[in-house]
Amino acid sequence: MYILYLYLILNDSDLKPIDLEIINAFKERLGQVEKTIAIVPHINADGDAIGSVLGLSRILRNAGKKVVVLSPNHFPGFLRWMDGGREILIWTSSRKKVGQALAEAGMLICMDFSQPSRAGEMKDRIEKFPGPGIIIDHHPCPEKFTEFMISHPECSSTAELAFHVVKAMGYQKYMDKQVAEAIFCGIMTDTGSFDYNVSDPQTFRTVSELLAYGIDPEEIHRQIYDNYSADRMRLLGYCLNESMEVYPEYHTAMIFISREVQQRYHFVPGDNEGFVNYPLSIKGIHFSALFTEKEDHVKVSFRSRGSFPVNEFASENFNGGGHRNASGGEINAPFEEVLERFRNLLPAYKAMLKKTRIS
Ligand code: 5GP
Ligand code: MN
Repeated sequence: MYILYLYLILNDSDLKPIDLEIINAFKERLGQVEKTIAIVPHINADGDAIGSVLGLSRILRNAGKKVVVLSPNHFPGFLRWMDGGREILIWTSSRKKVGQALAEAGMLICMDFSQPSRAGEMKDRIEKFPGPGIIIDHHPCPEKFTEFMISHPECSSTAELAFHVVKAMGYQKYMDKQVAEAIFCGIMTDTGSFDYNVSDPQTFRTVSELLAYGIDPEEIHRQIYDNYSADRMRLLGYCLNESMEVYPEYHTAMIFISREVQQRYHFVPGDNEGFVNYPLSIKGIHFSALFTEKEDHVKVSFRSRGSFPVNEFASENFNGGGHRNASGGEINAPFEEVLERFRNLLPAYKAMLKKTRIS
């Protein structure tokens, strides 16, 4: 009985075993690097991207390496509290500095993305990086553009994957409270505070190991979710009241935020974080879309519950991608035109939108 229990505990994970051959080859390469290691999250970085890059950068620093984190653009202020968050260099505000840091780097680590286009304006430099590099990511459809790649789409978050990678490398001795905070932040945000992508018991075992480093999960939750301005709350009120459109026949709802509305509510990056999830709490709605007008394009975000694959919807119609239940994209077209295009697309997906079952 005991043996059976032990067997179940050890074999109930959806996580594929980490490829130790890759880990060992990467570790050997890492050992040879004397120059600075550049770690890069995806454009419009979220809690998982920032948690992953800051967690790994601290591990590598603790291991005696020189590390620099280079972000393609600004990321939300509520992610800056993590250790190293204030030292991240931003391409769109310091192109020369970031370009130089990349040119001088001896290794490139890309986290939470596996398509060069997700590095925004840094795309070309990332693709042409001459030294060794690794991708650590959990997005489907990876494109290998580095020497090594650790791709686990079945993993809750890149942060959780990074923790398994660190352990597989034998680098757990470099873990500390700050690393655990960053990794917890990544898992928490990419699972919507343990609301989705949490069917693998391994995720909770990871969290329990992180707690052993003395982190305060309630405080981390507060730092992320209770750190907004009053303007942001009023913007949310506006969106739910004035700009949300509900299409029950398509089980769909959408929200849009024009530039004019952003100005009215003194919008700063990250203020629309989480807005796309609200319509999913309406009974019968399992597809939600958020449109945010930017200076020269429209940023779209999609979320679903159940079987509707929003990553396919995003790649088919909005130059995007992501996960089955969370995706996004960008489109260069006038705002009203994009909204109208979305409304007009719904009839073609009616049959798929009716189904909600995962299998
Ligand atoms: P969000 O809506 O939070 O921006 O993104 C949700 C998910 O979709 C994330 O996993 C993100 O990586 C992915 N995603 C967002 N925007 C894009 C995009 O423009 N292209 C691709 N391929 N994925 C995106
Ligand atoms: Mn992620």
